[in-house]
Amino acid sequence: MTRVLFVTSEVYPVIKTGGLADVSASLPEALCRQCHDVHILLPGYPAAMKAARASGSRRQARLVIGQYSVALWRTRLPGTSVTLWLVDCPGLFDRPGNPYQNEEGEDWWDNAHRYQLFCRVAAMMATGQAGLRWTPDIVHCNDWQSGLVPVFLEPAPNRPPVVFTIHNLAYQGLFSHDTFRALGLPDSLWRFDRLEFHGQLSFIKGGLVYADRITTVSPGYAAEIQTPGFGYGLEGLLQYRSEHLSGILNGIDTKLWNPATDQYLDCHYDADTLASKQECKAALQKQLGLVPGDAPLLGSIGRLVEQKGIDWLLDALPPLLQQGCQFAILGSGEIRYTEPLRALAKTHPGQLSLTIGYDEPLAHRITAGSDLFLMPSRFEPCGLNQMYSLRYGTVPVVHRVGGLGDTVLDPDQVGHSQANGFSFYEPTGGAFRTSVERALECRQQRKRWRQLQSNGMAGEYSWKERAREYGKLYQTLLEERCLTR
Ligand code: ADP
Repeated sequence: MTRVLFVTSEVYPVIKTGGLADVSASLPEALCRQCHDVHILLPGYPAAMKAARASGSRRQARLVIGQYSVALWRTRLPGTSVTLWLVDCPGLFDRPGNPYQNEEGEDWWDNAHRYQLFCRVAAMMATGQAGLRWTPDIVHCNDWQSGLVPVFLEPAPNRPPVVFTIHNLAYQGLFSHDTFRALGLPDSLWRFDRLEFHGQLSFIKGGLVYADRITTVSPGYAAEIQTPGFGYGLEGLLQYRSEHLSGILNGIDTKLWNPATDQYLDCHYDADTLASKQECKAALQKQLGLVPGDAPLLGSIGRLVEQKGIDWLLDALPPLLQQGCQFAILGSGEIRYTEPLRALAKTHPGQLSLTIGYDEPLAHRITAGSDLFLMPSRFEPCGLNQMYSLRYGTVPVVHRVGGLGDTVLDPDQVGHSQANGFSFYEPTGGAFRTSVERALECRQQRKRWRQLQSNGMAGEYSWKERAREYGKLYQTLLEERCLTR
């Protein structure tokens, strides 16, 4: 049994802006099932504090860090037996909006201060300076918000080994030199091989330079980020650390995402009763005001940002609408994408449904009710939606990058008997459209289509094996630590 402090800035169902929240819930839960003792550390955002108070949780420790008085609350991740620690510091975390931005969608002006404090608390917990009885054997950090934890731990004798997981290298936590000074970080850290990155302070470099092991969320992405096309200028550093860098594919919560039991669906099905998927499609068409019938229904869920290839989707929509395809699109994001999507929804009532916002039940219904699921992401560290749709017999069409390339297998790569979806390699809108056309053509051949659906549904997407890989990594680090002592 390994004691792990899992440091994260979001966790489902308490607070979520993306896949990190899903992973931060299901990976610790899977590790706990494998008898590890994983405690999650999360900033005390309002929703988290409210849930903790409502469940009768109590403050366990008080810390003074610089000008801030901080309380540590111990509670449980709702619906699980996983321990959740909250860093209660109202001056920094008791705010509306999402974890990183205000209600206008602007980054909080003091994000560097907020997450530095969060990292300091994690380091204190890791070294037994937080006044708690529990201390970890391993610290597992996630993304830039926890990037300073290994930096603060570096000088500590007998510190636990640190794993740093990159969920998305596009977000690096970059701040000015003035902010670096304001944080009071030692000048010795202002070096290109430490925290400085082209004249800015980079939180993520803390993780990449100082962690004992770096992981990312798919083997494909682990290779890609060592190249200029995906490395954001950090590829050299990642190549330098390649011996300590690996990709472990994310799993999904197979209880929450199960077409046979899904709490958000009125009709259920599995691989043997796939015909009932049709009922989910009819229900979705009804809910979204789409014309009932057998027209191919193409689903898309996610953040409407450049990463997700929304411009390629926008280019493909008019001709596909012309051919009679229906669309169920759910997402929120940049106005340059929401506006043209709104316009298309207006000119194609009954054919293109657009829901702007965050809607968990609808996400499940689109995943179940669609025939195809579209993910033309420019880059995708792992991606969860393609695994959800594979499990629901909804055939994904994806850009062959990162985790999408690791999970979706095209007939052209592996033959029809092994394939579970369609993918395109060239990073262009034209290539995306061609792969959708190939999928639509295949849908006409019932047997082949059925085979694709069955292959997808038979895949293993749970955390069981993948959590074991993290368990092995922790073990390796602990053994190495023993040898060097
Ligand atoms: P990313 O982390 O880049 O946003 P992922 O595919 O890893 O992408 O994870 C996104 C998660 O957020 C998935 O669980 C997806 O279903 C969910 N999601 C994204 N946007 C929405 C939305 N508008 N409504 C409901 N769920 C959403």
